[in-house]
Amino acid sequence: MSLRVGSRLLKTHVNRQTRFLSQFYNIDDSAFGFTDQQKELRNLSFNFAQKELAPIAGEIDKKNNFENLRPFWKELGRLGFLGITAKPEYGGTGGGYLDHVIILEEISRACAAVGLSCGAHSNLCLNQIHRNGTEDQKQKYLPKFSSAYLDGLETFTFDNLKAGAANILGELNKGVYVLFSGLDLERLVLSAVSLGILQSCCDVAFQYAHDRKQFGKPIAGFQLIQGKIADMHMALCASKCYIYTIARACDSGFVSRKDCSAVITYASEMSTKAALDVIQILGGNGYINDYPAGRLLRDAKLLEIGAGTSEIRRMVISRAITEEYS
Ligand SMILES: Cc1cc2nc3c(=O)[nH]c(=O)nc-3n(C[C@H](O)[C@H](O)[C@H](O)COP(=O)(O)OP(=O)(O)OC[C@H]3O[C@@H](n4cnc5c(N)ncnc54)[C@H](O)[C@@H]3O)c2cc1C
Repeated sequence: MSLRVGSRLLKTHVNRQTRFLSQFYNIDDSAFGFTDQQKELRNLSFNFAQKELAPIAGEIDKKNNFENLRPFWKELGRLGFLGITAKPEYGGTGGGYLDHVIILEEISRACAAVGLSCGAHSNLCLNQIHRNGTEDQKQKYLPKFSSAYLDGLETFTFDNLKAGAANILGELNKGVYVLFSGLDLERLVLSAVSLGILQSCCDVAFQYAHDRKQFGKPIAGFQLIQGKIADMHMALCASKCYIYTIARACDSGFVSRKDCSAVITYASEMSTKAALDVIQILGGNGYINDYPAGRLLRDAKLLEIGAGTSEIRRMVISRAITEEYS
């Protein structure tokens, strides 16, 4: 990952040493073999997302509207968070899939709805053009998509849309191959949204369990609550291990369809389970909308549906295994 991103963030955002530690359940990334640069990227993404996005996540959900969407998007572009995997000569950041996962995890930890939109833009759209576009297409679109300065681009209405030859991505009438060729990487990258939700579940529930007292002691002291806390920690760490490992493999050029399907299936189902545990740990407060538990559950469930449902992903996984036996 180019240091350009880091240096721009350091100048414009909260001090990278300042983390709001008490409200968060943080796991030292040394456990996952992160380099200093990857740890720095985590801190920068965390600080940005918690400062700029987390305070408005509830409002975005309640109103189903993001009033400052445009300036926020431009800020993401300015930080290099939109064109993460595009090369610098196309205005991108020059990062890899693990970098993409780290950034998307932290954005989704703050607000998974915006995380999903970011992933759709930076991976489904931008990375597909980067992987399949002609030189002219890349020069024309990627710098603007990476920076979010879209004002100069033509806008489309989708009735009777005709794409000229210059705008065909891949071969004529072979768009489905372009789409499917990106699906493995899409599943890997979007698994980071589930990971962010899972992390957020731990942030909310662990602090609450240590604050809330019943029968004269914090509920975190009761064994049945301790069991849920331990299960959530294990789900978080197992998801991290699997996702980071597969992201590293993709960065080295090894893209496994089976494992890209498996990471999102596993992490999304673990995040849904964790979100249900958040509701249970918060009791009545988990059920009402004064706390983010309901939002976390709705956001978690989406990742079992979008990018192919859990059922379809299991078909993909088991077909790959059957192929290995044929
Ligand atoms: C918020 C959101 C964002 C989305 N974003 C995008 C996007 O950016 N791009 C995009 O292309 N799509 C997007 N989608 C669409 C998403 O990929 C589809 O909703 C999903 O693939 C399921 O398709 P479906 O809704 O038609 O359900 P169906 O295909 O009707 O499935 C209904 C149920 O039947 C099961 N089922 C279907 N076929 C089989 C089978 N062969 N074997 C076993 N079970 C089966 C499914 O698993 C599911 O449980 C988005 C969806 C949502 C909700």
